[in-house]
Amino acid sequence: MARGATGNATSPTPTIITIDVEEWFHGHNYLAHVPPSTWANQELRVERGTHRCLDLLDRHGVKATFFVLGWTAERFPDLVREIARRGHEVGCHSYGHPEVFHLTITEFREDVERALAALARAGIERPAGYRAPSFSVTPPVHHYLSVLQDLGFRYDCSLFPVRHPRYGQPRSPRTPFRLGPGPDDLLVIPMPTWRCAGVNLPFSGGGYLRLLPWPAFAFLRERARRQGVPAIVYLHPWEMDDFRPEAKLAPWQRLRSQGQQDTMPVKLERILGDGIFATLGEHARNLCAGDGLPVRRPVPGRGLA
Ligand SMILES: [Zn+2]
Repeated sequence: MARGATGNATSPTPTIITIDVEEWFHGHNYLAHVPPSTWANQELRVERGTHRCLDLLDRHGVKATFFVLGWTAERFPDLVREIARRGHEVGCHSYGHPEVFHLTITEFREDVERALAALARAGIERPAGYRAPSFSVTPPVHHYLSVLQDLGFRYDCSLFPVRHPRYGQPRSPRTPFRLGPGPDDLLVIPMPTWRCAGVNLPFSGGGYLRLLPWPAFAFLRERARRQGVPAIVYLHPWEMDDFRPEAKLAPWQRLRSQGQQDTMPVKLERILGDGIFATLGEHARNLCAGDGLPVRRPVPGRGLA
Protein backbone atom coordinates (compact mmCIF):
# COMPACT_ATOMS: atom_id res chain seq x y z
CA MET A 1 0.00 0.00 0.00
CA ALA A 2 1.28 3.43 -0.90
CA ARG A 3 2.50 5.82 1.76
CA GLY A 4 -0.13 8.32 2.59
CA ALA A 5 -2.88 5.91 1.58
CA THR A 6 -5.59 4.85 3.95
CA GLY A 7 -5.91 1.48 5.64
CA ASN A 8 -9.21 -0.36 5.68
CA ALA A 9 -10.62 -3.63 6.94
CA THR A 10 -8.31 -5.70 4.74
CA SER A 11 -5.15 -3.60 4.88
CA PRO A 12 -2.75 -2.48 7.58
CA THR A 13 -3.94 -0.05 10.22
CA PRO A 14 -2.97 3.52 9.34
CA THR A 15 -1.20 5.97 11.57
CA ILE A 16 -2.99 9.33 11.71
CA ILE A 17 -1.07 12.53 12.34
CA THR A 18 -3.03 15.42 13.86
CA ILE A 19 -1.71 18.87 14.74
CA ASP A 20 -3.58 21.31 16.98
CA VAL A 21 -2.62 24.68 15.51
CA GLU A 22 -2.40 27.11 18.41
CA GLU A 23 0.09 29.37 20.18
CA TRP A 24 2.34 28.21 23.04
CA PHE A 25 0.23 30.18 25.54
CA HIS A 26 -3.06 28.54 24.57
CA GLY A 27 -2.15 25.44 26.56
CA HIS A 28 -4.12 25.51 29.80
CA ASN A 29 -1.01 25.19 31.94
CA TYR A 30 -0.21 28.78 30.89
CA LEU A 31 -3.67 30.22 31.53
CA ALA A 32 -2.90 31.67 34.99
CA HIS A 33 0.43 33.09 33.81
CA VAL A 34 -0.62 34.35 30.38
CA PRO A 35 -4.32 35.30 30.63
CA PRO A 36 -6.32 35.89 27.44
CA SER A 37 -6.26 39.66 28.01
CA THR A 38 -2.49 39.56 27.32
CA TRP A 39 -2.48 37.19 24.35
CA ALA A 40 -2.27 39.94 21.75
CA ASN A 41 0.96 41.22 23.37
CA GLN A 42 2.75 37.87 23.44
CA GLU A 43 5.34 36.63 21.00
CA LEU A 44 3.43 34.71 18.32
CA ARG A 45 5.27 31.58 17.22
CA VAL A 46 2.66 29.42 15.52
CA GLU A 47 3.90 29.98 11.98
CA ARG A 48 7.37 28.64 12.75
CA GLY A 49 6.24 25.39 14.34
CA THR A 50 3.50 24.82 11.77
CA HIS A 51 5.91 25.28 8.85
CA ARG A 52 8.29 22.84 10.50
CA CYS A 53 5.46 20.29 10.63
CA LEU A 54 4.50 20.99 7.02
CA ASP A 55 8.05 20.59 5.75
CA LEU A 56 8.57 17.36 7.66
CA LEU A 57 5.28 15.93 6.35
CA ASP A 58 6.22 16.95 2.79
CA ARG A 59 9.58 15.21 3.06
CA HIS A 60 7.80 11.99 3.96
CA GLY A 61 4.88 12.42 1.55
CA VAL A 62 2.34 12.20 4.37
CA LYS A 63 -0.95 14.12 4.64
CA ALA A 64 -2.20 15.09 8.09
CA THR A 65 -5.13 16.74 9.83
CA PHE A 66 -4.58 20.24 11.25
CA PHE A 67 -7.14 21.32 13.85
CA VAL A 68 -6.86 25.11 13.65
CA LEU A 69 -7.90 27.50 16.39
CA GLY A 70 -10.22 30.27 15.17
CA TRP A 71 -8.08 32.81 17.09
CA THR A 72 -5.10 31.67 15.03
CA ALA A 73 -6.98 31.50 11.72
CA GLU A 74 -8.08 35.10 12.21
CA ARG A 75 -4.49 36.29 12.61
CA PHE A 76 -2.79 33.95 10.16
CA PRO A 77 -5.24 33.19 7.32
CA ASP A 78 -2.35 32.66 4.90
CA LEU A 79 -1.01 29.90 7.15
CA VAL A 80 -4.39 28.16 7.00
CA ARG A 81 -4.42 28.49 3.21
CA GLU A 82 -0.88 27.07 3.06
CA ILE A 83 -1.92 24.02 5.09
CA ALA A 84 -4.78 23.37 2.66
CA ARG A 85 -2.65 24.16 -0.42
CA ARG A 86 -0.21 21.43 0.60
CA GLY A 87 -3.06 18.93 0.59
CA HIS A 88 -3.77 18.52 4.29
CA GLU A 89 -7.13 18.41 6.01
CA VAL A 90 -8.14 21.44 8.08
CA GLY A 91 -10.41 20.88 11.07
CA CYS A 92 -11.72 23.12 13.83
CA HIS A 93 -10.14 23.44 17.31
CA SER A 94 -12.62 26.00 18.79
CA TYR A 95 -12.20 29.77 18.60
CA GLY A 96 -10.61 30.85 21.87
CA HIS A 97 -9.42 27.51 23.29
CA PRO A 98 -11.89 27.29 26.21
CA GLU A 99 -12.27 24.14 28.22
CA VAL A 100 -15.69 23.05 27.04
CA PHE A 101 -16.85 21.81 30.45
CA HIS A 102 -16.70 25.43 31.68
CA LEU A 103 -19.18 26.56 28.99
CA THR A 104 -22.94 26.43 28.79
CA ILE A 105 -24.24 24.69 25.70
CA THR A 106 -25.10 28.13 24.24
CA GLU A 107 -21.59 29.43 24.89
CA PHE A 108 -20.16 26.29 23.31
CA ARG A 109 -22.23 26.78 20.17
CA GLU A 110 -21.21 30.44 19.98
CA ASP A 111 -17.51 29.58 20.31
CA VAL A 112 -17.72 26.94 17.56
CA GLU A 113 -19.71 29.25 15.27
CA ARG A 114 -17.13 31.99 15.76
CA ALA A 115 -14.36 29.52 14.90
CA LEU A 116 -16.19 28.39 11.77
CA ALA A 117 -16.56 32.01 10.66
CA ALA A 118 -12.82 32.61 11.13
CA LEU A 119 -11.97 29.45 9.19
CA ALA A 120 -14.38 30.45 6.41
CA ARG A 121 -12.63 33.81 6.08
CA ALA A 122 -9.39 31.83 5.63
CA GLY A 123 -11.00 29.80 2.85
CA ILE A 124 -12.04 26.71 4.82
CA GLU A 125 -15.75 26.10 4.34
CA ARG A 126 -17.46 23.44 6.41
CA PRO A 127 -14.57 21.52 7.98
CA ALA A 128 -15.48 17.89 8.59
CA GLY A 129 -13.77 17.47 11.94
CA TYR A 130 -13.72 19.06 15.39
CA ARG A 131 -11.38 18.61 18.33
CA ALA A 132 -12.10 20.32 21.65
CA PRO A 133 -9.32 22.16 23.50
CA SER A 134 -7.64 19.75 25.91
CA PHE A 135 -10.11 17.01 24.97
CA SER A 136 -12.67 18.74 27.19
CA VAL A 137 -15.97 17.31 25.90
CA THR A 138 -16.16 15.22 29.04
CA PRO A 139 -19.05 14.17 31.26
CA PRO A 140 -21.34 15.95 32.00
CA VAL A 141 -21.09 17.74 28.63
CA HIS A 142 -21.09 14.75 26.25
CA HIS A 143 -24.46 15.98 25.00
CA TYR A 144 -22.67 19.02 23.55
CA LEU A 145 -21.56 16.65 20.77
CA SER A 146 -25.01 17.07 19.23
CA VAL A 147 -24.20 20.76 18.68
CA LEU A 148 -21.37 19.71 16.40
CA GLN A 149 -23.78 17.58 14.40
CA ASP A 150 -26.19 20.53 14.13
CA LEU A 151 -23.36 22.70 12.82
CA GLY A 152 -22.53 20.23 10.06
CA PHE A 153 -19.47 18.44 11.37
CA ARG A 154 -19.00 14.85 10.23
CA TYR A 155 -16.78 13.68 13.07
CA ASP A 156 -15.42 14.64 16.47
CA CYS A 157 -12.06 13.66 17.94
CA SER A 158 -12.32 15.05 21.49
CA LEU A 159 -12.99 12.08 23.75
CA PHE A 160 -9.94 10.81 25.61
CA PRO A 161 -10.91 7.83 27.77
CA VAL A 162 -8.11 8.16 30.31
CA ARG A 163 -7.78 9.19 33.92
CA HIS A 164 -6.37 12.73 33.97
CA PRO A 165 -6.66 15.46 36.61
CA ARG A 166 -8.32 17.89 34.19
CA TYR A 167 -9.93 16.14 31.26
CA GLY A 168 -10.01 12.46 32.17
CA GLN A 169 -13.04 10.39 31.18
CA PRO A 170 -11.92 6.78 31.71
CA ARG A 171 -15.43 5.35 31.36
CA SER A 172 -16.02 6.80 27.89
CA PRO A 173 -15.89 4.35 24.95
CA ARG A 174 -12.44 3.56 23.52
CA THR A 175 -13.62 2.83 20.00
CA PRO A 176 -15.64 4.86 17.43
CA PHE A 177 -19.40 5.24 17.61
CA ARG A 178 -22.11 7.42 16.11
CA LEU A 179 -24.75 9.58 17.71
CA GLY A 180 -27.46 7.97 15.59
CA PRO A 181 -28.03 5.46 12.78
CA GLY A 182 -28.37 7.98 9.94
CA PRO A 183 -25.67 8.94 7.44
CA ASP A 184 -25.54 12.49 8.80
CA ASP A 185 -25.18 11.46 12.44
CA LEU A 186 -21.90 12.56 14.00
CA LEU A 187 -19.07 10.02 14.15
CA VAL A 188 -17.09 10.14 17.38
CA ILE A 189 -13.50 8.90 17.21
CA PRO A 190 -11.94 8.58 20.69
CA MET A 191 -8.24 9.16 21.21
CA PRO A 192 -6.24 5.92 21.27
CA THR A 193 -5.39 3.99 24.40
CA TRP A 194 -4.13 0.54 25.25
CA ARG A 195 -6.39 -1.14 27.79
CA CYS A 196 -4.45 -3.28 30.23
CA ALA A 197 -5.65 -4.70 33.57
CA GLY A 198 -8.73 -2.49 33.43
CA VAL A 199 -6.76 0.72 32.88
CA ASN A 200 -6.65 2.78 29.67
CA LEU A 201 -3.10 3.90 28.95
CA PRO A 202 -2.44 6.89 26.66
CA PHE A 203 0.66 7.18 24.53
CA SER A 204 0.04 8.93 21.25
CA GLY A 205 0.79 12.61 21.64
CA GLY A 206 1.59 15.73 23.60
CA GLY A 207 3.34 15.12 26.92
CA TYR A 208 2.70 11.38 26.74
CA LEU A 209 4.63 11.08 23.49
CA ARG A 210 7.38 13.50 24.57
CA LEU A 211 8.00 11.88 27.95
CA LEU A 212 7.72 8.22 26.93
CA PRO A 213 10.95 6.59 25.76
CA TRP A 214 10.61 5.48 22.14
CA PRO A 215 10.47 1.72 22.95
CA ALA A 216 7.60 2.35 25.39
CA PHE A 217 5.70 4.37 22.79
CA ALA A 218 6.28 1.69 20.14
CA PHE A 219 5.14 -1.04 22.55
CA LEU A 220 1.94 0.78 23.51
CA ARG A 221 1.18 1.70 19.89
CA GLU A 222 1.50 -1.94 18.82
CA ARG A 223 -0.58 -3.23 21.75
CA ALA A 224 -3.34 -0.71 21.00
CA ARG A 225 -3.25 -1.66 17.33
CA ARG A 226 -3.81 -5.31 18.26
CA GLN A 227 -6.92 -4.16 20.12
CA GLY A 228 -8.14 -2.51 16.89
CA VAL A 229 -7.13 1.01 17.91
CA PRO A 230 -4.97 2.94 15.39
CA ALA A 231 -2.45 5.51 16.57
CA ILE A 232 -3.89 9.02 16.32
CA VAL A 233 -0.74 11.02 16.99
CA TYR A 234 -1.29 14.57 18.22
CA LEU A 235 1.10 17.45 18.63
CA HIS A 236 1.26 21.22 18.60
CA PRO A 237 3.41 23.69 16.65
CA TRP A 238 5.00 24.83 19.93
CA GLU A 239 6.31 21.30 20.46
CA MET A 240 8.24 21.65 17.19
CA ASP A 241 9.72 25.03 18.20
CA ASP A 242 12.99 25.91 19.97
CA PHE A 243 11.22 28.69 21.88
CA ARG A 244 11.01 28.17 25.66
CA PRO A 245 8.64 30.65 27.36
CA GLU A 246 9.77 32.09 30.68
CA ALA A 247 6.38 31.88 32.43
CA LYS A 248 6.77 30.76 36.04
CA LEU A 249 5.07 27.39 35.79
CA ALA A 250 4.84 24.94 38.64
CA PRO A 251 7.25 22.03 38.18
CA TRP A 252 4.46 19.64 37.14
CA GLN A 253 3.13 22.23 34.67
CA ARG A 254 6.60 22.73 33.22
CA LEU A 255 6.98 18.97 32.82
CA ARG A 256 3.68 18.73 30.94
CA SER A 257 4.23 21.79 28.78
CA GLN A 258 7.96 21.70 28.10
CA GLY A 259 9.25 18.31 29.30
CA GLN A 260 11.50 16.68 26.70
CA GLN A 261 10.28 19.14 24.08
CA ASP A 262 13.42 18.50 22.04
CA THR A 263 12.28 14.94 21.45
CA MET A 264 9.06 15.78 19.58
CA PRO A 265 10.65 16.60 16.18
CA VAL A 266 12.83 13.50 16.47
CA LYS A 267 9.91 11.24 17.39
CA LEU A 268 7.66 12.67 14.68
CA GLU A 269 10.38 12.06 12.08
CA ARG A 270 10.68 8.48 13.32
CA ILE A 271 6.91 7.93 13.23
CA LEU A 272 6.72 9.30 9.68
CA GLY A 273 9.51 6.99 8.58
CA ASP A 274 7.50 3.81 8.71
CA GLY A 275 3.97 2.58 8.02
CA ILE A 276 0.97 3.88 6.14
CA PHE A 277 -0.89 7.07 6.92
CA ALA A 278 -4.31 8.62 6.57
CA THR A 279 -5.86 11.91 7.47
CA LEU A 280 -8.48 11.72 10.17
CA GLY A 281 -11.12 12.64 7.59
CA GLU A 282 -10.10 9.70 5.41
CA HIS A 283 -10.13 7.42 8.42
CA ALA A 284 -13.61 8.70 9.36
CA ARG A 285 -14.95 8.01 5.85
CA ASN A 286 -13.56 4.48 5.97
CA LEU A 287 -15.16 3.87 9.35
CA CYS A 288 -18.53 5.10 8.07
CA ALA A 289 -18.25 2.98 4.91
CA GLY A 290 -18.07 -0.18 7.02
CA ASP A 291 -20.91 -1.78 8.91
CA GLY A 292 -21.64 -2.10 12.54
CA LEU A 293 -20.56 1.12 14.20
CA PRO A 294 -22.41 1.25 17.51
CA VAL A 295 -24.82 4.08 18.32
CA ARG A 296 -24.36 5.91 21.61
CA ARG A 297 -26.71 8.77 22.46
CA PRO A 298 -25.44 11.54 24.74
CA VAL A 299 -27.59 12.04 27.84
CA PRO A 300 -27.57 15.54 29.39
CA GLY A 301 -25.71 15.48 32.69
CA ARG A 302 -24.91 11.78 32.52
CA GLY A 303 -22.61 11.02 29.62
CA LEU A 304 -23.37 8.42 26.97
CA ALA A 305 -26.22 5.90 26.92
ZN1 LIG B 1 -5.38 22.94 21.93
